[in-house]
Amino acid sequence: MKTLRFKAVEKAVSRQALDVILPSVKTSEYFAVDVFNRSTMQEYLSREAFDSVMEAIEKGTKVDRKVSSQVSQGMKAWAISRGATHYAHWFHPLTGATAEKHDAFFEPTTEARVIENFDGTKLVQQEPDASSFPSGGMRNTFEARGYTAWDPSSPAFVMGNTLCIPSVYVSFKGDSLDYKTPLLKSIEAIDKAGVDLCSYFESNVTKVNVGLGCEQEYFLVDDALFNARPDLKLTERTLMGHSSAKDQQLADHYFGYIPLRVGAFMREFEIEAYKLGIPLKTRHNEVAPNQYESAPVFEEGNLAVDHNQLLMTIMKRVAKKHNFEVLFHEKPYKGVNGSGKHCNWSLLTDTGINLLSPGKTPKTNMLFLAFFVSVIKGVYEYQDLLKASIVSLGNEHRLGASEAPPAIMSVFLGDEMNRVLDEIESKVSAGKMDKDEKTELKINVGKIPEIMPDNTDRNRTSPFAFTGNRFEFRAVGSSANVAYPMIVLNTIVARQLREFKKELDKFLESGIQKDEAIFRVIKKFIIASKKIRFDGNNYSGEWKEEAEARGLSLCNDVLDLLKNIVSPEAKELFSEFKVFSEHELDARLEIYIEKYNKKMQIESRVLGDLAINHILPVVYKYQNVLIENVNGLQKLFKSPDSERLSSPQMMNIEEISSRTVAVFTRVNDMIEERRKANKIEDNDLKAREYNDKIKPFLDEIRYEIDHLEMIVDDEMWPLPKYRELLFIR
Ligand code: ADP
Ligand code: MG
Repeated sequence: MKTLRFKAVEKAVSRQALDVILPSVKTSEYFAVDVFNRSTMQEYLSREAFDSVMEAIEKGTKVDRKVSSQVSQGMKAWAISRGATHYAHWFHPLTGATAEKHDAFFEPTTEARVIENFDGTKLVQQEPDASSFPSGGMRNTFEARGYTAWDPSSPAFVMGNTLCIPSVYVSFKGDSLDYKTPLLKSIEAIDKAGVDLCSYFESNVTKVNVGLGCEQEYFLVDDALFNARPDLKLTERTLMGHSSAKDQQLADHYFGYIPLRVGAFMREFEIEAYKLGIPLKTRHNEVAPNQYESAPVFEEGNLAVDHNQLLMTIMKRVAKKHNFEVLFHEKPYKGVNGSGKHCNWSLLTDTGINLLSPGKTPKTNMLFLAFFVSVIKGVYEYQDLLKASIVSLGNEHRLGASEAPPAIMSVFLGDEMNRVLDEIESKVSAGKMDKDEKTELKINVGKIPEIMPDNTDRNRTSPFAFTGNRFEFRAVGSSANVAYPMIVLNTIVARQLREFKKELDKFLESGIQKDEAIFRVIKKFIIASKKIRFDGNNYSGEWKEEAEARGLSLCNDVLDLLKNIVSPEAKELFSEFKVFSEHELDARLEIYIEKYNKKMQIESRVLGDLAINHILPVVYKYQNVLIENVNGLQKLFKSPDSERLSSPQMMNIEEISSRTVAVFTRVNDMIEERRKANKIEDNDLKAREYNDKIKPFLDEIRYEIDHLEMIVDDEMWPLPKYRELLFIR
């Protein structure tokens, strides 16, 4: 009888590249057809309604009830024309996934008739029964009400047959229960602080926007193989599996030829993304076998976050049609690279200036430098908070594994920018600068050449790198909702911009002339944040030593890092900008810790089940084959010969015995520890117990099983092996 594994392998191998029927029209002709965007709104809304929505988008004003009812009518008419039968508030609860509860447009009127209905109140606000979403105790089950409210700054779209309305999600008392609410607040914070600072340079700036482009990495795996791996199915990562003789050593996958089947999948999800207005631009093979990347052109921060969440949903859906599963887990396979999501982040004014791009004149370059040093200082002062925003159980396996940045924050600037900062540091004197000094500095500053991203982008080991016209936060995990790291980044930079302005005002009040005052603050920021600058190899052991000597945070413990969001500094920071209340931060920590515990519990259970129900029975069967063989040899040959002939089998029998004993006892010990941990009421203590006592068993058990995989008859091994999972034919 064929094992499940062999059936799965056969199925995977026999798959043909799917011919997808692709629209023969140009992308520009169908781009954003399923989005209720500016031009569609113009067509479907009255002038009054259109202006009101535009104002809400641009200035964050409220759309009033009367107008919202007009908007809902227009939106409904458009959505029905795109084939929608249902509508849903689409939001980002703290599960990390997106959520939607569909309601049909129609409402029964009399017995036999229904009418298509969707009024303004339903557009603006809904009340999903949301008692199962994480709330960190902010919403008692008896008070399960949570509200979703329309976010006009991200356009509605039709996906499948549903009109999806991007929404925030808050509790009955107004506490945020999602990622979007604080993200919008952080964008507002940096906008305000940015505009205030710009007024010293460019008086006509009225808005500072966040620009964000997320490079999404992922793995593909054939779904037949995926379905034969309960660990992948339930935890999105392999909890066992010996490495393949060949995986990424030859680096022959990176930027290589895209397999036909994969190409068909990419093409189709890109088309779906285009219809939803997601401007995907780049696709390529990544380093590990079966690993790929998709990146859009950057967009406004809130929209970019929505689009990244939407992209992940689309990819999952389209993959099914191509008999693939997409893995967004940060480390699905041991021994090969994991997946991240580089977040390219910049600040752009409504006057068309990229504040993180060196300008052409001394004046614009001083503006650039003010923002530039503020970002660096923000990263320095809130290293641990930034780390807190990217750690998770999955990302923990990835960071520091010489394939992704270590858990030490540093900023890469490149030679050119280091030179500029060093020069300012050495040339701006503490005393009053004379005219010549100032002119020289300004001329030098005016000469910052345009930095080509290619010149700066070489250091791939840096967690936070300047790439010519943006910073690239490279430690973000591939499965993450990027809102969280962006909330932190926006807020810590808003804080520095505000501080920059305060320092500047102080100098100005003391009678120092503006240019000089600006230089002085820039210098102050350069000196204050010098320790975070590092251009060397972040993977090296020497960096760890040096970072320690510099007093940078080396903490890499997930649980300790998560707690940084409730540190006094974090609470003060987030309250100052009204991004999170203290209460909301406490709740978030509770949710993250609970999630950690649940994930650990699931991984540990899955591994236990697999070890006892799948692996050991097969191992025993194979051992019996060997025993039978040895017995047969003993019957056939005389003693010395039979001993010689059966000695390899005997060695295997012994190794199998010792390893099965190890697996068996460790699984039982792990279950015992789990029992103890589960009795602990306090979430923090429980997490500690899971982390310290249970997690090590996962590695130990895996170690034994991976060795058993090398001994047991290949035909009998029950789970698809790495060499099968990692290569697509
Ligand atoms: P690389 O892999 O070399 O970093 P990619 O082309 O894969 O480059 O991704 C770069 C990402 O950075 C894209 O999403 C791109 O739109 C984005 N990007 C470019 N300029 C900016 C900017 N000024 N602000 C934010 N993101 C940007
Ligand atoms: Mg990049």
